[in-house]
Order: sequence, then C-alpha cells, then structure tokens
Amino acid sequence: MTESRPAVDMEKLVSLCRRRGFIFPSSEIYGGLSSCWDYGPLGVELKRNIKQAWWRAVVQQRDDMVGLDASILMHPQVWQASGHVEGFSDPLVECKSCHKRWRSDELEGDKCPDCGGELTEPKLFNLMFKTFIGPVEDEASVVYLRPETAQGMFVNFENVLNTTRKRLPFGIAQIGKSFRNEVTTGNFIFRCREFEQMEIEFFVKPGTDKQWFDYWVEERLNWYVSLGIKKENLKLREHTKEELAHYARECYDINYLYPMGWAEMEGIANRGDFDLVEHAKSSGKGLSYYDEESKEHIVPYIIEPSAGVDRTALALLCDAYDEDVADGESRVLLHLHPSIAPIKVAILPLSRKETLTPLSQEVYAELRQHWMTSFDEAQSIGRRYRRQDEIGTPFCVTVDFESLEDKQVTIRERDSLRQIRVPIESLKATLQAKLDGEDLFVLPDGGKIWKEGK
Ligand code: ATP
Repeated sequence: MTESRPAVDMEKLVSLCRRRGFIFPSSEIYGGLSSCWDYGPLGVELKRNIKQAWWRAVVQQRDDMVGLDASILMHPQVWQASGHVEGFSDPLVECKSCHKRWRSDELEGDKCPDCGGELTEPKLFNLMFKTFIGPVEDEASVVYLRPETAQGMFVNFENVLNTTRKRLPFGIAQIGKSFRNEVTTGNFIFRCREFEQMEIEFFVKPGTDKQWFDYWVEERLNWYVSLGIKKENLKLREHTKEELAHYARECYDINYLYPMGWAEMEGIANRGDFDLVEHAKSSGKGLSYYDEESKEHIVPYIIEPSAGVDRTALALLCDAYDEDVADGESRVLLHLHPSIAPIKVAILPLSRKETLTPLSQEVYAELRQHWMTSFDEAQSIGRRYRRQDEIGTPFCVTVDFESLEDKQVTIRERDSLRQIRVPIESLKATLQAKLDGEDLFVLPDGGKIWKEGK
C-alpha cells in the first residue's frame, strides 16, 4: 500500500478553517480555552452532514437499529459499574522545575521535555470532569460529565427492548457530546476536552460475536470510503493483548493518516457481556434477553463501533485538501463529497448590474428551499469561483446577461471545471441528479434525461 500523506499540514488547515469560518478557538476573544473549539457557520454544516450521513447509514437504512439520546449527566453509580471511577485514568508526572505535567507513558526519557527538569513519580489522574448536582457541593452530590455516550445505551437496554420489541441481533445508536479532561492535548480538533461521538452498541447472541465483530469492522471502514476518503489513507490496527481495555475481548482501530501521522479515528470493540453483567450487578436489575428459540434468558454480547465526529471532520478536511491551477491561476480546493460539503450550490450573478439582480435572486430563492446555498456578487467571477472552491462547494450557478433572454444558466463543477448550460426550469432537477452523483442533466419536460455531450 502506498502512503499518500495528505497534501496539507496542520498549520495550513487550521488557518483555512479559521479564515473561512469552519472552526474557531473557543472563547477566542479571551485568548481561547485549551483544546476546546467552536464550529463556525461552515463547520456546523460540515458536522451536521457527517452526523446525518452516519445516522442514515446506521439507523435509517437498517431495520436492526434504533436511536437514542440519553442525558449527559447520569447516576454516579453508572461510572462505578463501568469501571471509569476506578480505571479511567492516565499516569501523570510533573516537572519539579517548570511544573508542567506529562503523560509518563508517552515520555521518551526521564526528564521534562520542555526544560529538562526532574520529574515526580507517576500519579494516576482521572480523566472524568466532576461537577455537582443541586445546590450543595459535597461528595454525595458529585456527578460526572460523561466521558463516552456508550453507558446511556447500556443502561437503557431494557427500556429499548421492552418498547421496541426488537429481537437479537439489534443495535442502539447515539450521537452526543462527551468530555474528557485529556492530559496531552493539541493537534487541533483531534484531541479535544469536549467532543462529539457517534456510537453503536450492537447486541448479539454469544457465539455469533466474532462474526458480527468482523462484519462491523468492514461496514465501518466502507462508510469512510463511501464519503470519499482515500483507501490508502485508512488502515486497520488490531489491539495487542496487553493494550486491550479491561472490558474488551477484541478491538480494532480504524486509523487515518493525519498530518501528524497515523492515529485512531474510530475504535471497534467486542465488549462481550461485561457491561450488562456489571450494570445488572450494580443496579439489581436482571439485564437479560429471553431467547424464544432456546427458551432461556441470555446476556447478549456487545459489539461497539465508536466513532468521533471531530476526528472524522478532521480526516475529511485533510483528505479533501488540494492545490492546483485553474484558468492559469493557482487555487486551493476541498474535494469534499457533495453529501458532506457545507454549501451545495453557490449562485453567482456574472456582474453586480441591477438588471441581473431580480433573476439571480429568484434562482437563489428557489434553490435554497432544497439545499444549503450561498449568494455572492462581490468581486470578479474568477475570485468568487475560487472562494467557493476553497470551502468545497461542488457547484456554482452563474446567471449572465444571456440568461435574461434565453432563461438558461451555467453550472460550473468544482473538480472538473466543466461548465454546462441548462434551462432554469430544469436547474433543480439537474443539480439534484448531479449531487446524487449522476453525470447528466434533465430537460424541462421532466421526462427526458440527457447525458452530457449528447
Ligand atoms: P485515544 O487513544 O486517541 O485517546 P481512545 O481510544 O481513548 O482514543 P475511545 O475511548 O475508543 O478513544 O473513543 C472512541 C472515539 O471517540 C475515538 O476513536 C475518537 O474518534 C473519539 N474521541 C475519543 N477521545 C477524543 C478526544 N479527546 N477528542 C476527540 N475525539 C475523541
């Protein structure tokens, strides 16, 4: 497999995201907050599109999956039973001179990498954020901001089973915020203290878990490819016995070749019956499933594909980034898949002349009923095309003076730079077909579909 490291370094990408309104540092006017980020007008669309594509693939298009939106704050016993209070920690050392803290398992020598000072003995540092529920701040009122969405699905297993009457195998899917007081931070949105996860807990009969584990590894890898991520930038990594989490029987990471190197974008684990057994013990509820075939109560095994919205967004941006020359001028472009691109269509009147305004506005008003669109009439048409290329808009629609006469407009494609002229009447249908990946345009009578060039 040849490695094609993304054409962008992190600094360039951070700058593009900042400049164009994808991602800003959190509370920037106060100097930012370490490892917290705000998604701007384009970033929020990008994230929504990722979550929508995931939900469509894992919930909407399947008949063995249902959704859930559990609360972020959960009963403190959840985190006792899950092992997080006891074991969700990193070993930390502190420099005796500059007081900087480091993860001891990530250090190469035994000195502070910043100032060379002496380090303290490692101490375990729990990554969960603690807060208090109600007005009294005492140990009895401690709650945690969830460090993963998974537990919401385990504790609702019985509720979902009873209300949906699903039979095994079936899954629960959830998208939501998680919080970890990470020790090592950096690499932009790769490691945040507040981030979003897209998690599936897939319940299966013991004995079929290996087969379902393999199925989900392949399914999830293919999902990234379907969003346009280059295969050579994706790699599976199996966890060694030593690094397997306490609950896992088998685990694979889907790694992406980020600018800083290969790193985890999604983890898929076979959790066995650990979670349901522990929550049953801790809550006193019998979390099991009555199997009609064997006439027995069984505790299902769980396969967990756990993905991060932010790490997916970062991979998509890195993978889409490109620089080339168009019409004799260099341009930056994002080859984002149309389903992921924040803006699907930009409407660009050829000039700012008043005669073009009414028709351009009419086209804009019609198209924004269907997709996220943008209207831009400032500066030369070339510069406007490049502005759209840089944010990954797949199609621009140009309204020119001829449009007033022949009621036709030009569609310009971001990647091929191809331009076709279509009647306004069939513009929506043509764009729809193109956004769906078809290389054609539709004539106004609605019936005829024309391939380009014919
Ligand atoms: P890492 O080893 O990189 O810290 P992890 O193995 O702790 O990650 P998991 O607990 O498996 O991560 O979480 C599942 C997914 O949630 C990850 O694959 C990642 O996409 C996302 N995720 C986890 N921690 C963070 C974080 N701090 N910032 C952004 N995304 C995260």
